[in-house]
Amino acid sequence: MSLQKHRGIGMTSERTRSRMIERLREQGIKDTSVLAAMSLVPRHLFVSEALAIRAYEDTALPIGFGQTISHPYSVARMVEVLRNGKDMQRVLEVGGGCGYQAVVLSKLAREVYSIERIATLLGQARRTVRELRIANIKLKHGDGNVGLADVAPFDGIILAAATPEPPPALLAQLAVGGRMVLPRGMGDSQQMVLIERHEDAYQETVLEMVHFVPLLPGVA
Ligand code: SAH
Repeated sequence: MSLQKHRGIGMTSERTRSRMIERLREQGIKDTSVLAAMSLVPRHLFVSEALAIRAYEDTALPIGFGQTISHPYSVARMVEVLRNGKDMQRVLEVGGGCGYQAVVLSKLAREVYSIERIATLLGQARRTVRELRIANIKLKHGDGNVGLADVAPFDGIILAAATPEPPPALLAQLAVGGRMVLPRGMGDSQQMVLIERHEDAYQETVLEMVHFVPLLPGVA
């Protein structure tokens, strides 16, 4: 994927992107920083040229290897819940995929770490992030179930893949006062869950139904 190849839809993309932001607002996204961040990120550069024309539809699109770029609404909602109206310092994303959400997060946090288990997808994400000249994202190849102990704690952790229970390593790597957002469950039965870490306990809030690809073990 190269920026050159996608240049043709530049003008159209700005119009359709502002329509996407309008739609997100109508769907209930209130955080103006999230909406502003998403209006800055050219989503069409994260999908293949053939799908670029559909990049601003409210849908998940295939990115290869049986994986998808998340729905714009899911990205907006999860990031809105994660940030809770505040600027973030160090954020971990599990399931970087094509890198779209990591780039949205890079506008809202000082440092973003993103783990992806499929090496080829990670390579594609790296190229896009480099071409967009974004310096505050570190993409890692690995199993997100184990997190990144060497750079923890994180004040925000966001999972882009569904799991029946939050991985214990990730709970441990959440800072006191930090927030984790994840799709919990399997298949068609998933809920977005917010976990807040307090001094001596984790507090859980169950939010709306969602649909994500599963969090898998190991790397590929
Ligand atoms: N964040 C992406 C969404 C990608 S879909 C976006 O902005 O659109 C979820 C991704 O999670 C897939 O690429 C999948 O390969 C990855 N994934 C699944 N299990 C994983 C694991 N254990 N560790 C890291 N990545 C994982």
